[in-house]
Amino acid sequence: MARYTDSVCKLCRRERQKLFLKGQKCFTEKCPIDVRNYPPGQHGNSRRAKVSEYGVQLREKQKIKRLYGLLETQFENYFEKAIKQKGITGENLVKILESRLDNVVYRLGFASSRKQARQLIKHRHIIVNDHLVDIPSFLLSAGDIIKIKEKSKKLDLIHSSLKRVKDSTYSWLSVDKASLSGTFLQVPERADVPLNANEQLVVELYSK
Ligand code: SF4
Repeated sequence: MARYTDSVCKLCRRERQKLFLKGQKCFTEKCPIDVRNYPPGQHGNSRRAKVSEYGVQLREKQKIKRLYGLLETQFENYFEKAIKQKGITGENLVKILESRLDNVVYRLGFASSRKQARQLIKHRHIIVNDHLVDIPSFLLSAGDIIKIKEKSKKLDLIHSSLKRVKDSTYSWLSVDKASLSGTFLQVPERADVPLNANEQLVVELYSK
């Protein structure tokens, strides 16, 4: 499967926004966005050309795709799924992305980035409703219970990541730090999701 192998910090600089792709480093003064908040490359810091409507829509799509760590085809598939659901397509898209297991493991605080969450899942440390799940794209339903496998509860990365998380950060999740478990209470409303992006621009992009 194709993978992005260049520096992920370049992705944040391209979008001129923190995408929190690098775990703990994102919360320190070493974050390149705090130092060089302009696109990477030779002309990144020069005067910016006027961006077309298409360019704005494209950047928004890239931002959301990169934030959730998806490849183009995966993102398009989610968009197709969002179209088929009732309701507002853009909001449906965000709700689907928020229901991914890797995203929820990250939001629960068991990992310091979605990438690290994907590794935890692929390395078989995560249990959903008493079944081991090693598929990061697994979509959760309301009421699903996510746990760290008993043998994996001593992993340092989980405990250091949990330190940065408050107990009630997200209204649609509950986390029990003592037992290293959490519940996906419901699919979140778009308004509750802290996503600094305009998904409607993605809908407009794909409508062309
Ligand atoms: Fe983005 Fe994190 Fe790198 Fe900062 S440290 S540029 S937030 S990935």
